[in-house]
Amino acid sequence: MSDSNISDRLKSLRQKLNRHNHLYYVIHRPEISDQEYDVMFQELKDIESQNLELITIDSPTQRVGAEPIKDFKEASHPYPMLSLGNAFDDGEFLDWHQRTSGLLEQDEFRMVCELKYDGLAVALTYEEGVFVRGATRGNGVVGEDVTLNIRTIKSIPLVLDNRRPDKLEVRGEVFFPKSAFTRFNDARIASGLDPYSNPRNSAAGSLKQLDSRITAQRPLDIFIYGLGYAEPMVHSTHSEAMEYLGSLGFKTNPYNLTVETPQQVIKYYKDHLKIIESLDYDCDGVVIKVDRFDLQNHLGTVGREPRWAVAYKFPPNQSITRLLDIGVNVGRTGTINPYAVLDPVEVGGVIVKNATLHNEDYIRKRDLRIGDWVLIERAGEVIPKVVKVLEERRTGIEVEFHMPTRCPSCGQDIVTPYGEALSLCINASCSIQLVRRLEHFVSKNSMDVEGLGIKFVTVLVEKGLIDDVSDIYYLCDSDLLELDRMAQKSVTNLLEAIDSSKSRPFYRVITALGIPHVGVEVSELLTRKYGDIDALISSKEEELIVVPGIGPKIASSVHAYFRNETNLQIIEKLRKAGVILQDQGGHVNRELILSGLKFVVTGRMADLSRSKFEEKIKGLGGIVSGSVSSKTDFLVAGESPGSKFADAESLGIRILSELEFLELIESNLPVNN
Ligand SMILES: [Zn+2]
Repeated sequence: MSDSNISDRLKSLRQKLNRHNHLYYVIHRPEISDQEYDVMFQELKDIESQNLELITIDSPTQRVGAEPIKDFKEASHPYPMLSLGNAFDDGEFLDWHQRTSGLLEQDEFRMVCELKYDGLAVALTYEEGVFVRGATRGNGVVGEDVTLNIRTIKSIPLVLDNRRPDKLEVRGEVFFPKSAFTRFNDARIASGLDPYSNPRNSAAGSLKQLDSRITAQRPLDIFIYGLGYAEPMVHSTHSEAMEYLGSLGFKTNPYNLTVETPQQVIKYYKDHLKIIESLDYDCDGVVIKVDRFDLQNHLGTVGREPRWAVAYKFPPNQSITRLLDIGVNVGRTGTINPYAVLDPVEVGGVIVKNATLHNEDYIRKRDLRIGDWVLIERAGEVIPKVVKVLEERRTGIEVEFHMPTRCPSCGQDIVTPYGEALSLCINASCSIQLVRRLEHFVSKNSMDVEGLGIKFVTVLVEKGLIDDVSDIYYLCDSDLLELDRMAQKSVTNLLEAIDSSKSRPFYRVITALGIPHVGVEVSELLTRKYGDIDALISSKEEELIVVPGIGPKIASSVHAYFRNETNLQIIEKLRKAGVILQDQGGHVNRELILSGLKFVVTGRMADLSRSKFEEKIKGLGGIVSGSVSSKTDFLVAGESPGSKFADAESLGIRILSELEFLELIESNLPVNN
């Protein structure tokens, strides 16, 4: 290619990639497949790597992060980032509205309602349409320059088209999506790290990484909620400006709404309080803004708070109530789990009657006594928990709790395995455990048998039609017709649903077995490693332990499960019934892009210890060895590499820096040497 062809091609690739990026991350309407995107991205990277001088800061390749920095520079805000006054109930909001209309000398004025995201406020500056600076709020006047980290957030445009003003500053809230947060924490736990406490903290932690390559691996997202300034300024209202920013490619929130009356605001508040649980980001209220900029200016600010906006906060996620009793239920593995019976109380807009107490240790550590006043918290979709006891409210009539000595279902003795915090019913024919196991077996993530809910599962067990989970495949017409209120039609439907569950993917069958500590993700790992039930049954504990993502606890649990005669009989019955017990393929092994490739790692890595780094390679299907030979495919060299570097060079082995390696796996393309 000639020089001008190269720069044309680069330009066109960047334009296309930026456009598809917007379609995918901002409006969630992709037009091309991930593979097509990856191919274009790879081409761009290839051309850039041969023409380093042509790399621009707005190139999509620059989202992968850059070399770590020592410290963040200060970033002062030309216009301060204000904080908002709060209203905690309808009355306080109506007070604000009345005050505002008094100052404006008009009864009604248009307002915009927006959700108040619980993340980190940032200001993004664009000059001549190019993203040049990202700053945190800091104290409102001076924040920190986190440009490199902001650049890795894929829903932020790096370039704007010609409709943009010469200078532009937009403001938004960076957040960690709730779903991604759960996965992120699972991965942290699996690799022995402490989980983050909530999405907001992990968004903050990610945004304040000195090494933007780490930020690049976090799925941060943003909602733009306002204009900092624009030169020239052409819009006269907030709602127009927001619509314009959306058209420039910024991600704005679909729930923004323009309203005329305070009653409409209250309705917006009530309607949205009902849906916040279901959103993939945390919100703690509604922000109400006066729409017209001239009215905003007229109202001005008091201290750091604008008079033209108010945050109407959602009810807190904590409440205080009485612990009326402690109950116990029996889990599918026989664990006896205590739970709190509470005096019903509203927490974050929902009535809470029960809270989890995990085990006896949990109760002892908090010194919970029946009759105590307790602080309850609901966080995200998690079951409510008891945060602490209000000891100062004790009157002396509170009663200590003792775990029952017999199973509440079957009456047999409860045992506590040595060194463990749990209590168990080990009676194999304990009927409530069978109900729970069957409930798990037919659930959505397992065999997904439609129409088989908890009530019916209980009836099947109580009527003695089920002795173990595999028995559902041996039910017949006459069994079911004898049950109360079962018509031929529903019997036929149910039997069909049961029959069609036989062809669920193999990993779902593993999940369905209910092996302790083995959920969907571990089941997928086991499927990849072993492929069918017989290989899994004869797996050895020492070979399970070394599978990335499977620690000693899981390995021993899997091993013990397949050494149990009853479990093996269940599997034989499943096999006879025609349940598919081998991997039929079909699930995408995106993660195994290094499959079969041989790696040697040398030197010091920036963000991971050597052993964690090697685990990462193994987790992607690669093989790690200690010394370089002619069979080695890649040497990954960190800082101060040793003699292996020279060995690899002399043998002509491909050498990757840590960053190149990370880019390689970030691209998610299968790697060939
Ligand atoms: Zn029992």
